Amino acid sequence: MPGRAIRLAFVAVTAALVAGSAFAQPAAQVPAAKVDAAAIEHQPAGEWLSYGRTYSEQRFSPLDQINTANVKQLGVAWDFRTYTVRGLEGTPLVANGVMYVTGSWSKLWALDAKTGKELWSYDPKVPGSWGRYACCDVVNRGVALWRGAVYLGTLDGRLVKLDAKTGKLLWSVNTIDRSRPYTITGAPRVVDGLVVIGNGGAEYNTRGYVSAYDARTGKKVWRFYVVPGDPKKPQANPALTAALKTWNTGGKYKWWQIGGGGAPWNAMAFDPKLGLLYVGTGNGDPWNRDIRSPGGGDNLYLSSILALQVKTGKLAWYYQTTPGDTWDFDSTADIILADLKIGGKLRHVLMQAPKNGFFYVLDRETGKLLSAKPFAVVNWAKGIDLKTGRPIENPDARYKDKMAVVMPRQAGAHNWQPMSFDPQTGLVYIPSEDGSAVFVGQNDKSFVYRPRAWNLGVDFAAVSQAILDGIKAGHPPPPNLGYVKAWDPVAQKEVWHQPMGGAWNGGLLSTAGGLVFGGGADGLFSAYDAKTGAILWSIDLKTGILAPPVSYSVDGVQYIALLAGWGGAGGLADPRDPNSAVSKYQTNQGRLFVFKLGGAQQVAALAPEGVPPAEPPPLSADAATLEKGFVKYSQTCAVCHGFYAQSDDVIPDLRLAPAPVWDQYDDIVLKGAMADGGMASFKDVLSKADVAAIRAYVLEQAHLAWDGAHPKK
Ligand code: CA
Repeated sequence: MPGRAIRLAFVAVTAALVAGSAFAQPAAQVPAAKVDAAAIEHQPAGEWLSYGRTYSEQRFSPLDQINTANVKQLGVAWDFRTYTVRGLEGTPLVANGVMYVTGSWSKLWALDAKTGKELWSYDPKVPGSWGRYACCDVVNRGVALWRGAVYLGTLDGRLVKLDAKTGKLLWSVNTIDRSRPYTITGAPRVVDGLVVIGNGGAEYNTRGYVSAYDARTGKKVWRFYVVPGDPKKPQANPALTAALKTWNTGGKYKWWQIGGGGAPWNAMAFDPKLGLLYVGTGNGDPWNRDIRSPGGGDNLYLSSILALQVKTGKLAWYYQTTPGDTWDFDSTADIILADLKIGGKLRHVLMQAPKNGFFYVLDRETGKLLSAKPFAVVNWAKGIDLKTGRPIENPDARYKDKMAVVMPRQAGAHNWQPMSFDPQTGLVYIPSEDGSAVFVGQNDKSFVYRPRAWNLGVDFAAVSQAILDGIKAGHPPPPNLGYVKAWDPVAQKEVWHQPMGGAWNGGLLSTAGGLVFGGGADGLFSAYDAKTGAILWSIDLKTGILAPPVSYSVDGVQYIALLAGWGGAGGLADPRDPNSAVSKYQTNQGRLFVFKLGGAQQVAALAPEGVPPAEPPPLSADAATLEKGFVKYSQTCAVCHGFYAQSDDVIPDLRLAPAPVWDQYDDIVLKGAMADGGMASFKDVLSKADVAAIRAYVLEQAHLAWDGAHPKK
């Protein structure tokens, strides 16, 4: 069989390559001191110098030493422990054999990319109490490199510059109004000598903005607010004056007092030829439009793609993916720039697959919508009208103060977990999800403004109750399903998909070796055939995966690097999944894994954390207290400790608390006894009676869990 003979010959050649043949020449490399715009745009194949690799954010590595023929030999070259147990979302950068990687609480390490040896580390010492302001875990997605320096945004809103060689602090600037619960989880980008950084906080009471600082001095050069301020005062620029017309002021609460939202917390891309910086903006704050803008309105520039002139921060154009957002449909999923042949013509496009479930292709010079199609199950809109660029909404999805079941759910058909564009196949690989959410809106009467807590205008207690009632009536919500999906952005259609073990999974990488890499909740990290989706290789890392992989080379050897550490929005709020790595192995110790051909094929699980649960103390509470506890828990605790007190173990499962904790609820919840560990005081939103009721509800759930696990004989 000639086909087989050819394949065998190919394997032999590849084996020779791996063994260190004449082809194994070290690629040209860029020391951190030489990283600038030209180096980022035209980087050697073996480097990964910026978040999405180049400014176009394609996350495609031109390396092909690891390929479809030999990927089965891939294994662990080395690993590095972060000694954290929270989510890891970082993209490691690699320059000239040095890796810069970030972890939970904005910690940063510089490592020898060949051996894993630590060169230096930097801990910005984020106060544990600030963790309460991070909607979706105390994560960090990475750093920027520029002319010998590393730039890092910290969870508590600082932007710091460090010497790339030594880790020495060169400057630190505060980027936020510290009286409001802003956070930074995103990676800065350096464009045109400016360090650009956004912020998160649109679940609390913030007004999102993106800022640019002089990379040398740390001096602020410009700032663009996503939503207008007090309409009685002059706005910062004409774009915000124009945006005022899309907001209503009639209700009890005013958006400029309670937030407005729009947090640009993740996506950025840059076109150096056009001088345009693209920024994705977040959801409205509160979520429920009826509370922040009663009577409607598009609420510019929420849930939008902004094109800003990089020198001034002036708005060149915008495209709003979800006008009048009311579903937490951030448009903050990463943005990819590419040149595509559409209708026989080469178009310079921008692509985004945001939470709302539609895949958008825009002309990146003008912002004109070229095409948009759903890449996941969507019921909030029937499609996108290409003439107006607007969604054709399903009126039932606008829940107002009623209930609605909406697809996708708040976590999105695609969230921040990066997608990847492979110029060889012309396909975009999307970590996507089919999911649904129940919304029950509040109104001006039932909504209580809580400045430093979740501030959504959605009644989570009623949502939880509706789901429980549905389960009782034999209608449990459909499971949320995760996929790796290959999408043809020209034809706007799916080419292949592979189901994932869980719904909430990691970002993706494509390589010139014809491979797509990605991992998931179950701890499996896999290589897919970029053309067919066939799984060619898999390894169980025994820790859940959120982060995207990268690829680089040192001394002619290609490596794949990936952080494993479960968490993020899905990892905190979703009920326990028995198939998740954190459930199976009872540990979430963060680790960086680096793979090469011929590496180890097995990974050992680390020892479980914590102490085995003891039988919970006796419960004595009346039905009214338990009901109150359920409501307060659902409104205040569930987003981190899990709905129905069922945590996925990133943040402790309160039902399994060690015995002394049951006597320390007041100290912990009201007095902040565990603030340094990330559990701040909630005395501003909970009374002593509330805490007693929450304890009673959790204890009731603890007994149910204990009795389930220890049936009486
Ligand atoms: Ca959000």
